[in-house]
Amino acid sequence: MSYEENVRRVIPYTPGEQPRGGNIIKLNTNENPYPPSPKAERAVRELDADILRLYPDFAASELVRAIASYHGVKEDQVFVGVGSDDVLAMAFLTFFNSDKPILFPDITYSFYDVWAQLWRIPYRTCPLDEAFFIRKEDYFCENGGIIFPNPNAPTGVWQPVSMIEDILQKNRDVTVIIDEAYIDFGGESCLSLLAKYENLLITRTFSKSRSMAGVRIGYAIGNKDMIQYLNHVKFSFNSYTMNVPSLCLGVASIEDDDYFVRMRDLVVAERERSKKELTGLGFSFPDSMANFIFARHKTMQASEIFKALKEKGIYVRYFSGPRVRDYLRITVGTREQMDALFAALKQILTEGSQGA
Ligand code: PMP
Repeated sequence: MSYEENVRRVIPYTPGEQPRGGNIIKLNTNENPYPPSPKAERAVRELDADILRLYPDFAASELVRAIASYHGVKEDQVFVGVGSDDVLAMAFLTFFNSDKPILFPDITYSFYDVWAQLWRIPYRTCPLDEAFFIRKEDYFCENGGIIFPNPNAPTGVWQPVSMIEDILQKNRDVTVIIDEAYIDFGGESCLSLLAKYENLLITRTFSKSRSMAGVRIGYAIGNKDMIQYLNHVKFSFNSYTMNVPSLCLGVASIEDDDYFVRMRDLVVAERERSKKELTGLGFSFPDSMANFIFARHKTMQASEIFKALKEKGIYVRYFSGPRVRDYLRITVGTREQMDALFAALKQILTEGSQGA
């Protein structure tokens, strides 16, 4: 017998590449191309280093207060974590605790099945339709909980709140998590449903619309009991997950709403321009409400384009799974970055068609 018989084996989530270097154009992990609020930068520069001697506020009270007031909810309705990955991992552990399978789409954030396997939660995937929309009837059955992002990743497809309400109405006895990592870029949030459905949890992140992927702040909003259940699990695991600089940066970001709105609008405008450019180059895609576009080309294979772009120092994301291998997920960058992408694509597609 070896110790290995008792090892918890998991196949880990594969994050997108994080290449470093001056000439790289990084459109592969849905980061924001613009810097975080200058107020956040100032706040962290002015931080008194002596405070680092002490443990942080385990309740992250100031950040929780800022988030609650931003969304017009009570402080006891907000849970914060180290990115929404941390929040989601805690939520899986807390709420998906049944023998029945949890449900999520077949094409979705590829961390969900990893957490299910890690925590030994049974799960079943429900196929999206041909246009990558959720078929709500798939969720009208017995289950151990439901999760999906809205807008979905990697497709960018946003589903109306009324459709989600139909799912909630048929699932009052399980936790339904809506992962709103990308909601600031388009579509309507499910926050309005919180008052009606005590089993709804909504997660958000500072990583995309707030340009703070490196800071690692995510949060969940739900009813007070849900948040308490989450905190009990979290405090049984690691009380001090939110470090002092990130708490300070998070509050400063929330306080600078003008900047947030301006940068978010720049990304949205560039996404809409990119849709036109990509269509002109022979790409098609589901209409994205997120800060990325999930596009396939009418003739050239996605894997080929992915490789050719990488050789030119332009990184996009390619997934080789069954229904997605024809697509590239392209994060929306600055106008200059997108122009460089379109120029590179033009060249690659011309060379490709000459070689064929
Ligand atoms: N949910 C979705 C749908 C995502 O795409 C991501 C980004 N990888 C996350 C959650 C997690 O983001 P973060 O941990 O940076 O908040």
